Amino acid sequence: MRVSVVGTGYLGATHAACMAELGFEVLGLDIDQAKIDALTRGELPFHEPGLPELLLKHVQSGRLRFTTSYEEVGTWADAHFIGVGTPQKPGESAADLRYVDAAVTSLAEHITRDALIVGKSTVPVGTAERLGTLLADARAHAGLPGTVELAWNPEFLREGYAVQDTLAPDRLVVGVQSAHAEDLLRQIYAKSLAEGTPWITTDFATAELVKVAANAFLATKISFINAFSEITEAAGGDIGTLADAIGHDPRIGRKFLNAGVGFGGGCLPKDIRALQARVSELGLDRTMRFLAEMDDINLRRRDRVVDLAVQVLSHSLNGAIRTTGVGEGSGTVPSPAAVEILNGAKIAILGVTFKPHSDDVRDSPALDVANRLFTAGADVAVYDPKGNANAARRFPRLGYVNTLAKAVIGADLLILLTEWDEFRQMDPEDIGRLVDRKNIIDARNVLDPAPWQTAGFTHAALGHRFAP
Ligand code: NAD
Repeated sequence: MRVSVVGTGYLGATHAACMAELGFEVLGLDIDQAKIDALTRGELPFHEPGLPELLLKHVQSGRLRFTTSYEEVGTWADAHFIGVGTPQKPGESAADLRYVDAAVTSLAEHITRDALIVGKSTVPVGTAERLGTLLADARAHAGLPGTVELAWNPEFLREGYAVQDTLAPDRLVVGVQSAHAEDLLRQIYAKSLAEGTPWITTDFATAELVKVAANAFLATKISFINAFSEITEAAGGDIGTLADAIGHDPRIGRKFLNAGVGFGGGCLPKDIRALQARVSELGLDRTMRFLAEMDDINLRRRDRVVDLAVQVLSHSLNGAIRTTGVGEGSGTVPSPAAVEILNGAKIAILGVTFKPHSDDVRDSPALDVANRLFTAGADVAVYDPKGNANAARRFPRLGYVNTLAKAVIGADLLILLTEWDEFRQMDPEDIGRLVDRKNIIDARNVLDPAPWQTAGFTHAALGHRFAP
């Protein structure tokens, strides 16, 4: 079977390389010529552990090729996976579906043989049904040979673990309208099926909803523990111990209960907003209202880091703790008092990606905090093991350095914002010799405070009352 993958970003490039690894001949298609040129050379245009090796292996073997031509994929492949972006519409909560619409239309106008189109992009419920109509109309108009059907097979991969999640997924969900479509998908995923991966055959709406329900649940779990962070910051208590204790209950589980600066990236934030927009369209305004609260809790964590930076710096400079007055709502501008303290303070920003093992800075809490501190007048030195280039494209005016040591030299404050191993493994004594003032904020709760305090640092962390 020949497989095409339309859209070769984080999802699509991974899917294409993994399909080649499973033994299929694969043609990846994107409208971004530079991306296709890089992939054709066997170069991955983003960071994903294990993927460069897979890409190179199959490009060199000739099993994996790339193109910008819909004509080429339309005349060649039996199954076409769609992995184009579904970002948030600018200034709105709803998903921008123009890329999936364009991909389906382009395929419909170029396929010349029997084929199955398989949507993998995350879409609002009802999209696949609408695309099915779009496909049928476009096919009738195109008058080309071949029967073309649509299926929906949402993707659950995690950046940083994309290869293993694609080759050995937790479950496979397929929304289909015929036994033929299901049979084809079972052939494609035969290896996972043989390994016992749970397989769920369902309708379009359920398949679409499974994906957004999973993301809404995960976002809720993170915001839930972060709401308790607000309580422990005010009332005392240890948020990590609390998470461990409730996590022992198998009905709750410990995963996704790490208190910190919150979720970000190209999926969770836009997906919970798109879900709210879609249920409103369905006339169910109240149904997902709690997600607005989850979003708000999440964004307030960023305010809290800025607030904590002001508190730690004011304590370090004059022994008194001042607060910015931020904390309600999101994106609040620091007060004049906060700006006075932050202005000229040298702050080392440790991490800008939305999570480790990825170079993705889309909707990254870390980068947002860095930019807010910079905007308030701080002299920020940003270091991320993989994310500097993407961050610099987004916020070119921040100060970027290419080593941890360069970021911390002369710093008044260090803020750990992405939990890369390099930051977890920092030696407080070594770091202490490089900084001007020994202050650290752990916005991911991954450092043991004791050695930092022994080395003379004022240590503050999200979810903990700041009481130096
Ligand atoms: P991305 O921005 O990295 O990639 C999207 C690609 O689609 C880009 O390379 C773009 O050039 C290409 N594209 C846009 N319009 C096109 C068209 N008409 N024809 C061909 N190519 C086109 O996005 P991503 O992170 O890979 O996400 C893609 C989809 O997968 C989204 O719906 C996302 O929600 C979903 N998803 C992503 C992840 C993830 O971890 N990144 C996980 C699960 C699901």
